Amino acid sequence: MGRIIIVGTGFSGSILARKIAEECNRKVVVIEKRSHIGGNMYDEYDEYGILVQRYGPHFITTNKYSIVEYLEKYAEMIPHDVRLLSFVDGNFVQLPFNFRTLQQLVGAKKSETLLAKLREKFYGRDRVPIFELVESDDAEISKYGNLLFEKAYRTYTAKQWGLQPEEIDKSVLERVPMAMSFDARYINKDFQYLPRDGFTALFKNMLNYPNIELRLNTDALVHICFDDKKHIITYDGEEVELLVFTGNIDELFGLKFGRLPYRSLDICYTYERRKSILPEEIVSYPQALGYTRSTEYKKITYGIDQDIPISMIATEYPLEYDPNNEKANIPYYPVLTEESQRIYAKYLIEAKKYDNIVLCGRLAEYRYYNMDVCIEHALEKFNEIRERLEKKA
Ligand SMILES: Cc1cc2nc3c(=O)[nH]c(=O)nc-3n(C[C@H](O)[C@H](O)[C@H](O)COP(=O)(O)OP(=O)(O)OC[C@H]3O[C@@H](n4cnc5c(N)ncnc54)[C@H](O)[C@@H]3O)c2cc1C
Repeated sequence: MGRIIIVGTGFSGSILARKIAEECNRKVVVIEKRSHIGGNMYDEYDEYGILVQRYGPHFITTNKYSIVEYLEKYAEMIPHDVRLLSFVDGNFVQLPFNFRTLQQLVGAKKSETLLAKLREKFYGRDRVPIFELVESDDAEISKYGNLLFEKAYRTYTAKQWGLQPEEIDKSVLERVPMAMSFDARYINKDFQYLPRDGFTALFKNMLNYPNIELRLNTDALVHICFDDKKHIITYDGEEVELLVFTGNIDELFGLKFGRLPYRSLDICYTYERRKSILPEEIVSYPQALGYTRSTEYKKITYGIDQDIPISMIATEYPLEYDPNNEKANIPYYPVLTEESQRIYAKYLIEAKKYDNIVLCGRLAEYRYYNMDVCIEHALEKFNEIRERLEKKA
C-alpha cells in the first residue's frame, strides 16, 4: 500500500480525508498551501468578536436535509435564511428581484397588470431566469426583463466576470433568477444553515482524526512528480497510491495546455464607529464602479451583541486571477466560456492517463459548485474511492 495524498482542505479535500481515514482506516496526508484549513470557507473572529469569512460570505443552502445532518456531526448548525438587497438607481431594492422589486422599480400602479401577466405566464414556477423574461413574446414582460438586465445584470456581470453577459455560459447568469412571488430569500432552497461557531471550527473537527496528518503552508506541486512514461505519481520521490487533488487542474499539469481563467476578489475592510452600516447583511451594487457587493458580518455573526458601537463591511472588487498579484492570487470562480471548457477538456484527458488521480471540487473539476453540491459530490467520490481501495487490499 502506497501513500494517500490529499491536496486541499476545502469541503472536497476535508470530506475525503475524513472518510478515507475513518471508514477505510487508512492513513492520509493532507496538504494545504495556505496557512489555514477550510479553503474558501475559512473564517475567523476579529478583535471585536465579529466572525469574518475571509473569502466572501458563505451559507449552506440545500434541498437535502441529509447534507445538514452530515455537517451536524462536526458542528452545531443553525438556521439562517440568506438575505440581500440591491442598490439600484439610488434605492435599496430586494434581491432576488421579486414582485416587491417590481413594484419598487416601476411603481405600484404600473405593476398591477405586469404582476398579473407574470403570474399567468409563469404559473407554477417559483423562480424564472432573467433571459426568459427578456425573450418573452409579451412585450411588457420583455421590457421589464430588459430593464432589469440593463440596470443590474449587464453591469454586475461586466465587473464580476470581466465579460459581457453574451460571452459567459448562460448557467452562470441563471444563478440569480427572478422570484415569481414576494419571496425575499435570496436562494429558494428549503434548508439554509450556518455553523454556529463558524466554518473553520467545523473543518477543525472534521480534520481532527488520528489517521489524518495535516501539513499547512505546503504547496503540493513542489513535491508531486509525474512520470509520464510509466504513468506513476510520486510525492517527495515516494510512489503515491492515490492522489486526491482539489486545487487548480491547470497548475497540476504545469499549465501545459495554457492557463484556465479564474476570477479573484480583492476584499477591502472598512470599520465604522456605528452600530449598523448596511440595511441588510449583504448589499449588491450592480451600478457601482469597481466593486460588486458588501457584507456586514456583524449581522451574520451568531450571538454577537448587535449594540456594540462598531461594525465593519467587507467590499468585493473582482479581478482577474493572477498568482503573482497579491490582491488577486486566490482563484475564486472558474470563468466558464467555450474556450475555457475546451482547455479544461485537454487537462481532463491528461489526468485520465493516471488511474490513481481523483479530481474533486470547484477548481479541479472547473465547475461552479456550491457547497451543498460540492459536499454531495465528495461523498459520492468517496464511494468510488472506497471500492478502489477495497479492490486493491
Ligand atoms: C465569494 C464566494 C462566495 C460563495 N458563497 C457560497 C454560498 O453562500 N453557498 C454555497 O453553497 N457556496 C458558496 N460558494 C462556493 C464555495 O466556496 C465552493 O463550493 C467551495 O469553496 C468548494 O470547495 P472546494 O473544496 O472544492 O474548493 P476550495 O474551497 O477552493 O478548496 C481548495 C483548497 O485547495 C488548496 N490548494 C490548491 N492548490 C494547492 C496546492 N498546489 N497545494 C496545496 N493546497 C492547494 C487551496 O488553498 C484550498 O484550500 C462561494 C464561493 C465564493 C468564491
